[in-house]
Amino acid sequence: MGICPTDTRPLLGDNFTGGLRHWARPEVLTCTSWRAPIIWDGIFDPHEAEQEARRQNLTIGLTVFAVGRYLEKYLEHFLESAEQHFMVGQSVVYYVFTDRPEAVPYIALGQGRLLRVEPVLRESRWQDVSMARMHTLHEALGGPLGQEADYVFCLDVDQHFTGNFGPEALSDLVAQLHAWHYRWPRWLLPYERDKRSAAALGLGEGDFYYHAAVFGGSVAALRKLTAHCALGQQRDRERGIEALWHDESHLNKFFWLYKPTKLLSPEFCWDQKIGWKPEIHCPRLLWEPKEYALVRN
Ligand code: UDP
Ligand code: MN
Repeated sequence: MGICPTDTRPLLGDNFTGGLRHWARPEVLTCTSWRAPIIWDGIFDPHEAEQEARRQNLTIGLTVFAVGRYLEKYLEHFLESAEQHFMVGQSVVYYVFTDRPEAVPYIALGQGRLLRVEPVLRESRWQDVSMARMHTLHEALGGPLGQEADYVFCLDVDQHFTGNFGPEALSDLVAQLHAWHYRWPRWLLPYERDKRSAAALGLGEGDFYYHAAVFGGSVAALRKLTAHCALGQQRDRERGIEALWHDESHLNKFFWLYKPTKLLSPEFCWDQKIGWKPEIHCPRLLWEPKEYALVRN
């Protein structure tokens, strides 16, 4: 493993440093080959990051989709836990995309925090609900959401916050290391391998395997990301094919072509089923148990 002692200046175009201390976690990789920090517990000062964000007077968006049975099953716990842990002390706007706006639960929000409900149509296949997020987000980022927020995190609903998820996670383009795959050799990673797909990666390609349950960044960067993924999905559909892990495959292709400026360690989106690992100090989000029989059609 390597740390990044030579140059810890923020990347060009990224004016948010978040109080980094790379040397604090010598046992894990805290910097990519393209000099993007990998955020592990202890390598940043949360107070410094909070103050930096407040000085910049940021509004941070959090988008989440709760379509069909995912609404009753997950949304309330997701939002209530976000009130406890997500960007506490900052201006936050939740954007809940759902096919049933009237069923969105009432949540008491802290000061400086808003919730907006955005109606969407329900796709019949769960894979299509998941993939349609890219196009819907692209449109939303080009509208009032994109005007209102400076940075946006786009999250799956089938998880809940268990620890501080603060401004240390902000950057121009943020990717989440997948909890199940961060120790795997590159050639084994579950990228799309069918060359006909827009999401295809060759055996020598790919840096890390990223989890589509968490990605974020500036509005401009996310406009580009969502356009790329939505277009790739559209091309595949026209060819009658679908990438192995749907929007996640296209997201991984995008992050290979356009490197993220910050990576979140698996502590930011952890699955307890993996069991105890010494490097996982403080999980920020935990996966809910996969109860597909209950939520998928
Ligand atoms: N989703 C939804 N309704 C559906 C299918 C998916 O609201 O019928 C949304 C929800 O936010 C979910 C995300 O799309 O968390 C991705 O789907 P899922 O979590 O089932 O995929 P997985 O994480 O298992 O790959
Ligand atoms: Mn999920």
